[in-house]
Amino acid sequence: MTPRVMIVEDEEPLSLMLRYNLEAEGYQVDTVERGDDAETRLRENVPDLLLLDWMLPGVSGIELCRRLRTREQTRALPIIMLTARGEEQERIRGLATGADDYVVKPFSVPELMARVRAILRRSRPELIASVLRAGEIELDRETHRVRRRGRELHLGPTEFRLLEFFMQAPGRVFSRAQLLDGVWGRDVYVDERTVDVHVGRLRKALGPGRDPIRTVRGSGYSLDEAFTGVA
Ligand code: CA
Repeated sequence: MTPRVMIVEDEEPLSLMLRYNLEAEGYQVDTVERGDDAETRLRENVPDLLLLDWMLPGVSGIELCRRLRTREQTRALPIIMLTARGEEQERIRGLATGADDYVVKPFSVPELMARVRAILRRSRPELIASVLRAGEIELDRETHRVRRRGRELHLGPTEFRLLEFFMQAPGRVFSRAQLLDGVWGRDVYVDERTVDVHVGRLRKALGPGRDPIRTVRGSGYSLDEAFTGVA
């Protein structure tokens, strides 16, 4: 089963970026730009998690959040509010209104993804795999252990996140810029060559045997589909 996330956000570039990253992690994503449209949509279809912007045309995020909490079908719907910097008071009000969590814009994508996972793991544990497998490699997100053919590997924190990112979407080719966004986050300034350095370290840490990371010339990297047995 695929966890479904609805994004309610009127800034299109942000909405697209969130959609891209959520889809890369295997979520099914629905996007809505207006608060009132979101309310209508949520009467027909309740997702597993809602990413809700604060300032929206139609009905504001906070008002929508309040209304959702009064309805039976959405009373327990996990909601993460997206707020602008300097809305400290509003954030407190947001939590009081019933949001489960909030992030302040501009936020780090990996951090938001971690929060999405953490909330879903609590609310819908059956939807979030704590152990990812690709061929003979096993990655446990909770214990942060990686094994290959049962033997434990020692990965640095960046290599771990990089491998996790690849294993969420086997076969998908990621550009260096996409890997930077998804693994390091947008706010961190690192050169694209840093990606090559860490992919090199990851390959080394994965040890002898077939290389599961495929270099796609002119494009980037992916987890080899042949390695995972995915057609
Ligand atoms: Ca907005």
